[in-house]
Order: sequence, then C-alpha cells, then structure tokens
Amino acid sequence: MNIIKQPNCIKFGIDSAKDFKYPNKSLVITSKGAISRGWLNYTNLENQIYFDDVEPNPSSDTAEKIISDFKNKDIDYIIGLGGGSSLDVAKFVAHKLQKKKILIPTTFGSGSEVTRISVLTVNGKKTSFHDDKMFADVAIVDPYFIKNTPQDILKNSAIDACAQCSEGYDSKNGNEYTRFLCQKAFEILEDGILNEKYEKLPMGSLITGLGFGNCSTTLGHALSYVYSNEGYSHGHALAFTTRVAHEFNSSKFTDRFNHIVNKLKFDKIILKQNLEDAANIILKDSKHLMNNPKHVEKKDIISLLEKINNFD
Ligand SMILES: [Zn+2]
Repeated sequence: MNIIKQPNCIKFGIDSAKDFKYPNKSLVITSKGAISRGWLNYTNLENQIYFDDVEPNPSSDTAEKIISDFKNKDIDYIIGLGGGSSLDVAKFVAHKLQKKKILIPTTFGSGSEVTRISVLTVNGKKTSFHDDKMFADVAIVDPYFIKNTPQDILKNSAIDACAQCSEGYDSKNGNEYTRFLCQKAFEILEDGILNEKYEKLPMGSLITGLGFGNCSTTLGHALSYVYSNEGYSHGHALAFTTRVAHEFNSSKFTDRFNHIVNKLKFDKIILKQNLEDAANIILKDSKHLMNNPKHVEKKDIISLLEKINNFD
C-alpha cells in the first residue's frame, strides 16, 4: 500500500501571501531582516506579535526559547515566514504548543512548507524530526519573494531542491506518484536554473516538497550533514555530496545534476574532521541510508568523502 500526505490547503501564485486573510492572534516566526526586507509589510502582518531571530541551521534551543517565551500568550496560529530555517522552527514550535500553522516560504528549495519534517541542530548535530502533526494547515507559495533573493541564497536553495527531487526519485521508499512529482519538479527546476528563469523555482520547489516529502532523500543528504556541522550551508554541501552520491548510485540524474551544479558555480568544500569518524557518524543516519537505492558500507562512504576532498 502507498500513501500520500500533504497540507490540507496549498495556496500558490503571485500575491497569494499578500491577499490571504490572516487570522488575528498569530505569532509570526521569522528571521532578522523580515522587517527591513518588507516581508511583514507585504503580508500585512505588521501588527501581529513576532519573533524575528531564527538563525541559519537553527538550533533546538531557539525553538525551546520561543516555546517558553510565548506559551502563555493568547495565540491561535503560528505563522512561519522565511527560508527553510524559519519554517522548520515554526513547525516544531506549533506542534509542541498545539497551534495551527500557516507556512510562507521566502526562499524556494527546502519544500519545508509542505513536508512533515523539521530539521534542527541538537547539541551541534543536525537532527530531523518527522511527525504528521507538523504539516501546515495552510501553505502559501508566493513567487513575489524570489524577486529580491540574493544570488547566494537563491543558488543554495535551488540546488537543495534539485538534490531533494532527484534523490527522492531514486528513493527505495518512493512510488509511482512520488516519482511523477520528483521527475516533474526536476524538469521545472532545471529549466529555471539553466535558462535563468528564476520565477519557475517556487513551483519547482513546491512540487519537490510534495514529492520527496512523501518518500525521502537518500545518500546525498546523509553525507551532507557532517559538512553542515562544520559550517557549510545545506545547499553548498549538497552540490558536492549529492553529486558523488548520484555517481555511486548510477542515478539517471547524474549528468543533469552535475550540469546544474556547474551552472550555479560552488566553491570547493573540504571536511576537516577525520574521514573515518565522519563515516561513523554518517552510518548512523539510517533514515536516509536505508532508502538509498544501493547498499552503502563504511568503505564506500570514506571513498566518497575522499572524492569530495580531492575535487579540483
Ligand atoms: Zn535538503
């Protein structure tokens, strides 16, 4: 039996975040810059209470701080507004406080607005929490936000989406429906990136989230977290880890993914820690590895990490 789950309501299209009638008594969770970049003004959320201090690769301490600061406030809804980090924190907080959730991405890559996954850093390590109760009640995907996205954020988000749909396509946990979504998402993203039609990325990212969110990512993501722990952004790490993972898996996306990485241009990444220790950490990530299309052993992981370290 296969099953597909997604938010009850997904609104998308230009102005969808501006025209939505937001409930009163909401807490907006976002990152620094939400005010100066006009996000609260655009969405008419300026009069709601807000927390605007979500950091990149957010820690579970941030979520716990919000929970303790706002748990006694009169709030019906949590509104997550921002990149994947803000949405992941908002989902986690809303779930713990048993509030309804409205999620509005301003960068397009994580697909977090339509998944049941929240990734937080716990004791210095990226940890993913999975729960059906973390689905948004309403997800709003408004391409308006891509207009002012800095190039660095845009490319890191775009390569995350490409990694997620192509890994998802190959996932052992997938089915005909997820492969349909992942394939379509990859095509939209590839066209948007190679032809610099960036207004296509929000739709590509949304379909990616619906696709991989109903199966899983695999080896590329499993390899990436040790790099995140050393400070590399998620997308930057994936540009290399998903690339070598696709080669290892003989994925049909190998050449097309490499082409996209080359177009977006990423600086080389190097893991500082001992590769054997890193491999031991990666091997514990059974959530990703058990769905990888090919069986992965420690020696394989070490050789893939060496390959990344030795890229020209
Ligand atoms: Zn990802």
